[in-house]
Amino acid sequence: MDIVFFNGEYLPKDKIRISPDDRGFLFAEGIYEVIRWYRSFFYDMDGHIARMKASLEKTRIIWPAAGSFPEIALELIRRNMLEDQPALVYLQVTRGAAIRSHAFPKPPVPPTVYSFARGMMPDNNDPESGIRIMLAEDIRWKRCDIKSIALLPNTLSFQEALDSGFHECAFVRDGKITECSHSNIFFVSGGSLYTHPETEHILPGITRKNVIRIARNAGIAVMETPVTINMLAAVSEAFLTNTSGEIVPVTLIGEQVIGNGQPGPITLLLRSEFRNEINSLQG
Ligand code: PMP
Repeated sequence: MDIVFFNGEYLPKDKIRISPDDRGFLFAEGIYEVIRWYRSFFYDMDGHIARMKASLEKTRIIWPAAGSFPEIALELIRRNMLEDQPALVYLQVTRGAAIRSHAFPKPPVPPTVYSFARGMMPDNNDPESGIRIMLAEDIRWKRCDIKSIALLPNTLSFQEALDSGFHECAFVRDGKITECSHSNIFFVSGGSLYTHPETEHILPGITRKNVIRIARNAGIAVMETPVTINMLAAVSEAFLTNTSGEIVPVTLIGEQVIGNGQPGPITLLLRSEFRNEINSLQG
């Protein structure tokens, strides 16, 4: 039985009881984080904590113990005997349980905090040959910078992509490609790297931030400028980034083959630089 963290305790998962009045259940009023464990360390824990605290602040959810996430995450890895495997830790914090009302509970109630760890699932995507992604209207709200648990537009769009034979869905807002249903997106054009700037239309991805740093250190120009659908024909490479997949080459967007339909040299270089960084952190 998986051991999970729930409101200050480590318990077998089937012992968890969550109130039907929980505002996460009633209003999808909560935030989450996902961090990757690389056999001996968490990648960029500081970045994940900073983003979690920003999401808590923007949603006005108060979790005084937010700084304890590293200990919780490590304890879950230990208790589930995942030390020697690649794994992910998920954490969710909601505003807590109270009689249903749009107004925040008064006096405030404790937040509901839930976290679990699991071994990395085998990846169906073939990162060596690249993936195909669908284009869809960005039907999400204007606060995509918050890592909110309200993900219905993301799940609907992702499932539509799967049902249509694609591996992911890229969102288009006013002709500009923002990001994907659960990843950020980068393009290469004229030897430079392009990705949507950090605005309220994208999640500030931890992998995105680190890939930008790694690219700049490798001497690649990075433009935080949106790519429009009209520019796609001139794009020579594309890839996605997220915590679980790291850097995933994209070879088809909608009906547009990217470059020669194979992962390109800058994508491969960044993948290998990212790997080198992980290996050096592993010591
Ligand atoms: N955008 C969205 C909408 C996401 O859900 C995710 C994954 N949580 C990302 C981008 C990538 O973020 P990260 O690199 O921090 O996993």
